[in-house]
Amino acid sequence: MISSLFDLPRPTLPIIGETVAFPVRRIYCIGRNYAAHTREMGGDPAIQAPIFFMKPADAVTLAAGALPFPGDTMDLHHEVELVAALGSGGRNIEPADAMSTVYGYGVGIDLTKRDRQAEAKAAGQPWDRAKGFDRSAPVSEIRPLARCGPVHSGRIWLAVNGETRQSADLSTMIWDLPNIIAKLSAIWTLAAGDLIFTGTPEGVGRILPGDRITAGVDEVGRIELILS
Ligand code: MN
Repeated sequence: MISSLFDLPRPTLPIIGETVAFPVRRIYCIGRNYAAHTREMGGDPAIQAPIFFMKPADAVTLAAGALPFPGDTMDLHHEVELVAALGSGGRNIEPADAMSTVYGYGVGIDLTKRDRQAEAKAAGQPWDRAKGFDRSAPVSEIRPLARCGPVHSGRIWLAVNGETRQSADLSTMIWDLPNIIAKLSAIWTLAAGDLIFTGTPEGVGRILPGDRITAGVDEVGRIELILS
């Protein structure tokens, strides 16, 4: 049906306290933004700066309830991350001005097929298959910054079947959110609707069908997923 071609759904996330949804334009991700996680991945944070990659906008899915196991992997990993949702954008944004572009925050999981990523790294190939698959970006409802204020510190954590796997403080990021926005906007023109996954702390690991994943960021939110 040609009509369906011109009526494509736009990926969105609910906003706490609003009836309208947040429209997702792009999903930027930052890798190696916590020193201990860089080390657990075999890197050296003293010589390897954080990196950027993207997921497709329609990889976003509300982090609530059942999430189908994606397949194409024997080693699906959790990476809990603070997600920033932009209400405006621009080019070459100064760190001092960056927070004015942030509409709100979410709690996200940068789902990663670690086996596919390791193969890609070894072969010098892109990470799309490992990082950009369907529903690879579960995110909570967006909490407007107007409700929680800027979030620069606080606990970020993730548990699998009630056992804590990741727990760190946001203040231990190598690049904080204003600096991430400044660096991203030197490369791409940022805009309203962009999501930024700000990196994961140490403790990433495998999750399996049937696992119950809970995660949260102080002041931002809490999510619960069942991998089905
Ligand atoms: Mn990540």
